[in-house]
Amino acid sequence: MASELPERLALIRRRIDACAHGAGRAPEEVELIAVSKTHPAALLREAIAAGVESFGENRVQEAEAKIMELGREGVRWHLIGHLQANKARRAVQLFDVIHSLDSDALARRLDRLCAEEERALLPVLIQVDLAGEETKTGASVDALPELVAVVNAAQHLRLAGLMTLPPFFEEAEQARPFFRRLRELRDELAAGGAFGGSARGELSMGMSHDFEVAIEEGATMVRVGTAIFGERGAAQS
Ligand SMILES: *Cc1c(COP(=O)(O)O)cnc(C)c1O
Repeated sequence: MASELPERLALIRRRIDACAHGAGRAPEEVELIAVSKTHPAALLREAIAAGVESFGENRVQEAEAKIMELGREGVRWHLIGHLQANKARRAVQLFDVIHSLDSDALARRLDRLCAEEERALLPVLIQVDLAGEETKTGASVDALPELVAVVNAAQHLRLAGLMTLPPFFEEAEQARPFFRRLRELRDELAAGGAFGGSARGELSMGMSHDFEVAIEEGATMVRVGTAIFGERGAAQS
């Protein structure tokens, strides 16, 4: 129900703050990305009124309609779903950040499209597949060094961090090793200057049921949908 949104959002913010404090971290280090996929623009408008500044969408086409309606001023749009080559140009035009970079070919394509679209710099996160599941998208850990090199050589891409989507577990605690592993990979890359100078690099990890575990493991961006907007239709996850 739409009217519950401000309360749900406030609750999530309180939980983020409490969890960050408990982990000895500053709450400002954790950006809340409200995952609005499947929900109508009217509900996003309500979220903006309640203070949301970042939305996560997983489909370019669906996001396009909402971005056209709500605009890009004062709101940041994050692409968090798999990006197909034929949607890449539109993604470059529409999104502020792409979390789902998963191949050398896509990195090269995005760089070329940025040049064509006169987009100076596109922040990207590399999605890492830590489970090795066939159904999941993301770059394997083995492919990571090469992909990082391609992004860093690209003129119009800025490597902003790493993202992961662990397998679904009933117990949030079971996702912890995946979050920890992503942090270790991020730390190794940061030590080598992969994020530019001494930049530490973002960690996009944690969803409605496990964002607190992710924050304990160092998440700097949590992607929360259901806990803010309510359940999505069963057919549209
Ligand atoms: C849908 C989605 C989320 C949000 O999931 P919730 O369980 O609704 O919080 C986060 N990240 C990605 C990549 C998603 O596709």
